[in-house]
Amino acid sequence: MKAAQLIKHGAPGVMEVREVPNPTPGPDDVVVRVRACGLNRLDLWTEQGELPVPITLPRTLGGEMSGEILKMGENVRNWHVGERVAVQSNIFCGKCEFCLQGEESICLNGKLLGVQLDGGFAEQVLVPTAALVHLPDAVDFKTSAGLTLAGSTAMHMLTKRTQVCVGDWVLVIAGASGVGSAAIQIAKHLGAYVIATGSTEAKREFSKQLGADYAIDITATDWPAEVRKITSKRGVDVVVEHVGGDVLLGCFNCLARGGTIVTCGATAGREVCLKLWSFFVKEQKLVGSYGRNRADIKATLDLAAKGVIKAAIHQTYPLDQTVQAFADLRDRRVQGKAVILP
Ligand SMILES: [Zn+2]
Repeated sequence: MKAAQLIKHGAPGVMEVREVPNPTPGPDDVVVRVRACGLNRLDLWTEQGELPVPITLPRTLGGEMSGEILKMGENVRNWHVGERVAVQSNIFCGKCEFCLQGEESICLNGKLLGVQLDGGFAEQVLVPTAALVHLPDAVDFKTSAGLTLAGSTAMHMLTKRTQVCVGDWVLVIAGASGVGSAAIQIAKHLGAYVIATGSTEAKREFSKQLGADYAIDITATDWPAEVRKITSKRGVDVVVEHVGGDVLLGCFNCLARGGTIVTCGATAGREVCLKLWSFFVKEQKLVGSYGRNRADIKATLDLAAKGVIKAAIHQTYPLDQTVQAFADLRDRRVQGKAVILP
């Protein structure tokens, strides 16, 4: 089969589409014929070798895949060849205390498909059966690949790590990103007022098309002031943050008393200096969020099947153009999602 493999780390790294052996399923695994696989910032970090986990090269990246079951191991029950599936890329052990609570993303023995294990920028991928999620008929492969990782991350943030209520004010950082574009739609579905940020007029307009009530310029010197103005100085109840660095600190200047910042990324800086006094006096919360559980993927795909949320797909690429897709995401030319069709 063909796979786009990372040979050497870098920005850009060295990636090659080449012929590799077909995967063979173990007793509890399946092989999925990949039909679509979304590209995420996580893939760029993997490419650059900037994740705090050991990665063996060559490695096939890509964790946001959908496809059909092609082969099944001898112990596999309740699934059938040809069945349409999405995949939980936070591979979990199913046995540790967190897995037993359904918290797969914080499994003590967790591994990431497309990082520590070969992922979906390939014609076929090996997946433990426990990580499969049935793909509803009404959701096509492309849509699934545009929502399974980024969309379900937003779902996990807005419904598990914090609970957005009707009438809440929600600030979505980088509304035109994969996580941001899903977060806008989910927050609107939950009945919130949404303010999105964007660095260009096109990105702000895109956020509004997805349902954001307001879209503000994050490159403005005092962008939090704009949020306070929109909310009549009150601030927002929830911030969906996935950038880190100074942007995260700026979010505290947008946050209402009792409000929550939920964060799942640190592209712009992994260390911040937090002003503790205003943090505890205003009884604010800073909540970490990592990946998703299968329940979040199911909830996301159910909303997609009902047409409530849509995958904001910027462009699709054949497997041969995986390198181009990485370049487009790295150079911030992507609004919403880039999806590879192997
Ligand atoms: Zn576990």
